[in-house]
Amino acid sequence: MIELTDVTKVYDGGVHALAGVSVTIKRGELLAIVGPSGSGKSTMLHVMGALDRCTSGRVTIDGHDLATLSDRQLSTLRANLIGFVFQQFHLADGMTIVENVADGLLYSGVGLRERRSRAADLLKQVGLGHRLTHRPRELSGGERQRVAIARAVIGEPPLLLADEPTGNLDSHSGETVLSLLRSLNDSGTTIVVITHDREIAAGLPREITMRDGVIV
Ligand code: ADP
Repeated sequence: MIELTDVTKVYDGGVHALAGVSVTIKRGELLAIVGPSGSGKSTMLHVMGALDRCTSGRVTIDGHDLATLSDRQLSTLRANLIGFVFQQFHLADGMTIVENVADGLLYSGVGLRERRSRAADLLKQVGLGHRLTHRPRELSGGERQRVAIARAVIGEPPLLLADEPTGNLDSHSGETVLSLLRSLNDSGTTIVVITHDREIAAGLPREITMRDGVIV
């Protein structure tokens, strides 16, 4: 699914956020990238998610060498292959949760009515069927993150990248979100979770530990 070979990322100002990273992530894996703040986890996720280009080395996603793709091709690849989940949820508060999730299909060519109907089905699956017309601010953190995950996976991407998805949650809500990620993985989605929480990382089938821009 993902292959990084000798990948570096140097930001303006000379910070070596990734200092030579090689890793292979197979289809169907569920893994954690763990490490202290500043160790390069988010940078690695951005590079894996085709959100940012690496400085040197090679990144392939589902067999596509990202260096050979234009920015427009990269956004098509993201739209077709990758769902993103972030610590701060990034939901739109002016919309109901059905509309938020339906927006995950905005560029898919699926009509509005079908988008909403699929969004409602998915929200029922994540246990929020009774809240469809509520706005994100009316929900708890854990519920909001389940909405954000539903939005990320409504287009059924083969790859889900999550940056500290439980970072803002209490441990019970965090566990609910993790079990949702586990069940998505059981149905075939490859999932990479960034966390600074060693306990969460240890509960996943594979851990990649980062320090100072390299895998340790
Ligand atoms: P983590 O996710 O493990 O906290 P990051 O990948 O966010 O680590 O950051 C790795 C290093 O790169 C840090 O030293 C950070 O300050 C630096 N960094 C991250 N983003 C930028 C940026 N846009 N410009 C300059 N430096 C950055």
